[in-house]
Amino acid sequence: MALPLDPQPAPYDLAAFRALVGDVPLVDEPVILRKRSRDFFWYSPILNAELAGKSADIIAVPRHEADVIAVASACARLGIPLTPRGAGTGNYGQAVPLHGGVLIDMSGLAAIAWQRPGQVRVGPGAVMSDLDAALQPGGWELRMHPSTKRKATVGGFVAGGSGGVGSVGYGGLREPGNILAARIVTLEPEPRILELRGDAGWNWWSPSTRSTPPWRSATKRLWPTASSRSSSVRSPGRCHAISARSPRPARTA
Ligand SMILES: Cc1cc2nc3c(=O)[nH]c(=O)nc-3n(C[C@H](O)[C@H](O)[C@H](O)COP(=O)(O)OP(=O)(O)OC[C@H]3O[C@@H](n4cnc5c(N)ncnc54)[C@H](O)[C@@H]3O)c2cc1C
Repeated sequence: MALPLDPQPAPYDLAAFRALVGDVPLVDEPVILRKRSRDFFWYSPILNAELAGKSADIIAVPRHEADVIAVASACARLGIPLTPRGAGTGNYGQAVPLHGGVLIDMSGLAAIAWQRPGQVRVGPGAVMSDLDAALQPGGWELRMHPSTKRKATVGGFVAGGSGGVGSVGYGGLREPGNILAARIVTLEPEPRILELRGDAGWNWWSPSTRSTPPWRSATKRLWPTASSRSSSVRSPGRCHAISARSPRPARTA
């Protein structure tokens, strides 16, 4: 079904939103709004009919955590729905703004904060294959990823995925030890930063929650690359990575 070319004015106070978020980059070009308001829901004929025409009113593109906080705060103050988006490869319409409002495009927050043996802390916008490419020269790789790895982001996988390549060996995404920590921005007038570790890091969302708050970074478990795995018995560092696969991983900074 074609999307309306001349949408009705948004019922939200977008002028006030713009004023509150200041210099956070915003996009309101209609073609981009329509494109980024979609994911792969069209695989389902039912969702394709139900979600046709759903669109954000404006897109925020945060450059850093302060921008995420500004957007979350403005949305909470003004009662505007906020929908996070990674790469939009989800196939159930999870990244579709059902009631318009603000779509927060997290793809710019892709930096690796740090890497240690068996662990990496990374921004939610990191594309998983880019992350692997950055890790592999050091002898590490993600031990599990979705089959959409070449486009999917870490944030979208954690919030909307379930498992994938590697899950036979290492379990699903929510298996203890696969996500070690998560940094969350709450959706409140005065957003809080929640730094969740261990079990809390992978168990912070609820299946009954329709949308998740935007989050800033995740610490993920790594695995030696296939080429280095064969020598893992001789390498203390790599043995540590294996033995660190306990249900309660060590705290990370
Ligand atoms: C052909 C095909 C194959 C697939 N194979 C797999 C597979 O093997 N395993 C699997 O698990 N999935 C699979 N998927 C689903 C999807 O590709 C993955 O789950 C992927 O990891 C989603 O990442 P994304 O960046 O595209 O997220 P998006 O689609 O952009 O978002 C997914 C969800 O996460 C939320 N979100 C995104 N970023 C954030 C953030 N920073 N903070 C809070 N919430 C956020 C969104 O609001 C949405 O609810 C597949 C999909 C297709 C079309």
